[in-house]
Amino acid sequence: MKNKFAERARLVKSSETREILKVTERPEVISFAGGLPAPELFPVENLKIACNAVLDEEGAASLQYGTTEGYIPLREAISHRMKGIGINSTIENVLITSGSQQAIDLTGRLFINEGDTIICESPTYLAAINAFKSYDAKFVEVVMDDDGMVIEELEKKLNNHPDTKFIYTIPDFQNPTGRTLKLERRKRMIELANQYDVLIVEDNPYEAVRFAGEELPPVKHFDTENRVIYISTFSKIFTPGLRLGWICADESFIEKYVAFKQTADLHTDSLAQRITAKYMEIYDMEEHIKKIKAVYKTKCTDMMRSIEEFFPKNLSYSKPEGGLFIWVELPEGIDSAHIFTECLKNNVACVPGTPFFPNGTQKNTLRLNYSNMSNEKIIEG
Ligand code: PMP
Repeated sequence: MKNKFAERARLVKSSETREILKVTERPEVISFAGGLPAPELFPVENLKIACNAVLDEEGAASLQYGTTEGYIPLREAISHRMKGIGINSTIENVLITSGSQQAIDLTGRLFINEGDTIICESPTYLAAINAFKSYDAKFVEVVMDDDGMVIEELEKKLNNHPDTKFIYTIPDFQNPTGRTLKLERRKRMIELANQYDVLIVEDNPYEAVRFAGEELPPVKHFDTENRVIYISTFSKIFTPGLRLGWICADESFIEKYVAFKQTADLHTDSLAQRITAKYMEIYDMEEHIKKIKAVYKTKCTDMMRSIEEFFPKNLSYSKPEGGLFIWVELPEGIDSAHIFTECLKNNVACVPGTPFFPNGTQKNTLRLNYSNMSNEKIIEG
């Protein structure tokens, strides 16, 4: 049989991290590789109650097809949450997606023409790289320091790439670096987006998981021309398995997203949406998030202490104030793929940093996740 795949099948391959994760599923492995939340924090018992309440009260309606935009009480709860962090929104600005990963993919479908330039942090989130690559985007990377994307460099790149479609940024506790974009840079990013007429895709799944330092308004808070598309998720504050994310954006964008989502999956899981809305009605989500933050704070502290104690001194690492990841920069010339292989021989897993650079540079970096393992295993690992 001749090759039947479309041209775009060439553009994406299964993510290297996913392949690594398969290896790390062995129970004896202490894994710092994935981005899995702590399972002990999933509110199983309260979810049983919320689930029963939905089925008792709403019965068949909860199992029926729903609207593409999403379940209204959940959109209301999200809109309320958006206002709480300084984003002006009504339910007309909110679309529920099947995880925020779907929001990223739909963004690619909706905005990227073949060869369009996307400007992103260097490094950035692997599954966004792969999603945008599948629409044949070109990536222009902007270096980061401890305060996130270096804004002078962003300006230079915007100048050099007038075909840029959007800036993709993860401002809070970025995946993979754990770094946060500082306040002045958020404001400046908006000014530059206005000046160069580009969109900003603000992917902010970790925003609510701040366990140290001062809260910062999202980039969209400063948006004066409705050019920021804000994407977030219940995965890190509730459960990833329910696959609930959202987009908060200008109504004219949401209308188009709805049309595209219709062709992808008609709508997000009705039951999952209703259970989550019911949970938020019965219980205090903010209290639940507080528990997550307290646990992640101790895990992150234990990992940083262990790095200080056990790692060689000639490397640097990020000191996150939230989120799930620490980024380690090894001395020049060391290939982290080698470290990965050696660690695995000792049943410890981490992720080499190379795949997080869209254009494949920098081999001397590692991403470490601290949310999933117990404190004892973090120290042992
Ligand atoms: N964006 C970023 C930056 C992420 O780290 C993740 C999850 N690892 C996602 C989006 C996707 O999350 P989900 O689809 O579970 O909402």
